[in-house]
Amino acid sequence: MKIERPRGTRDFLPDEMEKRREIEKRMRRIAERFGYREIATPTFEHLELFTVKSGEGIVEEMYVFEDKSGRKLALRPELTAPVMRMFANECSVMPRPLRFYYFANCFRYERPQKGRYREFWQFGVELIGSDSHLADAEVVLLAYRILDSLGIDFELQIGHVGILRSLLSPLGDEMASKIMRLIDKGDREGLLDYMEAAGVDGEMRETILAIIDLKGDEGVIDEAKEIMDYDFERLEKLSSILRETEVKFELNLGIARGLDYYTGVVFECYAEGLGAQKQVCGGGSYELSSLFGGPKTPSTGFAIGFDRVCEVCKISPKSERTVVIASFRGLEGHAFRIADKLRAEGVRTVVDVMERSLKKQMSFASEVNADYTVIIGPEEVEKGLVAVKNMKTQEQILLTEKEAIRFLAG
Ligand code: ATP
Ligand code: MG
Repeated sequence: MKIERPRGTRDFLPDEMEKRREIEKRMRRIAERFGYREIATPTFEHLELFTVKSGEGIVEEMYVFEDKSGRKLALRPELTAPVMRMFANECSVMPRPLRFYYFANCFRYERPQKGRYREFWQFGVELIGSDSHLADAEVVLLAYRILDSLGIDFELQIGHVGILRSLLSPLGDEMASKIMRLIDKGDREGLLDYMEAAGVDGEMRETILAIIDLKGDEGVIDEAKEIMDYDFERLEKLSSILRETEVKFELNLGIARGLDYYTGVVFECYAEGLGAQKQVCGGGSYELSSLFGGPKTPSTGFAIGFDRVCEVCKISPKSERTVVIASFRGLEGHAFRIADKLRAEGVRTVVDVMERSLKKQMSFASEVNADYTVIIGPEEVEKGLVAVKNMKTQEQILLTEKEAIRFLAG
């Protein structure tokens, strides 16, 4: 019986896993250099953790199930809400700010396509407890440094949902969040139709469109000031810090972000070469702690779409030296013993477990691209020697066992 994997999921073979681990390692290293420490939360949570802010609508995009006691649970679609639940439950007395990072799988019931899966991985951070533009600056800089270090061709765009929210506030919460969602999707036609149907007056419609079209350098703030009354200081201060760090970015007042919990600065990164699913990172400042029974705590974070980054990232992991031990029949014990010594020295060492002839062991060694083969034959063993063959040059030398180990470990 052949069983397919579930729709929207993937298997990862060793070559791909090595690349993914290398990318993950680099992300971790940079986050740790910024002082962030890793945390982990459960793969599934109470459904309400995700519906309390985003509404029941989100249920359609989630893997929701009941356990045997009838509890309503959901596989996490993202990690910001779980991290803030954890913060509210466990971390309220820890010194602020807290710097957390995570690398974890997420699940969304979406239509699978290139760069969009039902199980995917996010690398993200949350900087908890600061309401300053400096927190925004640090988090944006960290996202930028991670993507930049991977040699990805990407654009960073920064906006502020407070601007849109303030503009939309006369329309009431429900209409405002519907409009934000249409803006986030980039669905201009849907936006126009909705505003018309909902009876948003002409002048307001014009103003909304004018603001979401503002994109470019800091000049857009001056343009926005002409259109609406708002304190743009936060965005100005953030821009000025980022300019000092040589982060390349654009302001885009049309960034709305899908989730309702963002309150201030928001940002997104888009990579070349991914087609429609080009957003590789999304983040911003938010307040969720009080919603989960914790103290009101301003926070800033981002989530990088790890799978999309892997798709466009060209790095290849350094391949480790591989040694194959090939032995004559009856000398398998010698092979195991030498292999064990080499491994203790940190060398990746593979022995025959198929009871193959020496010839077949040698061809297996070339098939798996071994760098060296150690050949253990009866005559050599008697003299305390082994043959070491360089598989790239085909050169073969006789060494004592000790010399061979020192040579291969070097
Ligand atoms: P999109 O607009 O592409 O659906 P999103 O706004 O839903 O993205 P977030 O919730 O901000 O995305 O998640 C952060 C990142 O996770 C995204 O920028 C994206 O790179 C990645 N991501 C989101 N959904 C998926 C998915 N189904 N498969 C793979 N990666 C995803
Ligand atoms: Mg989405």
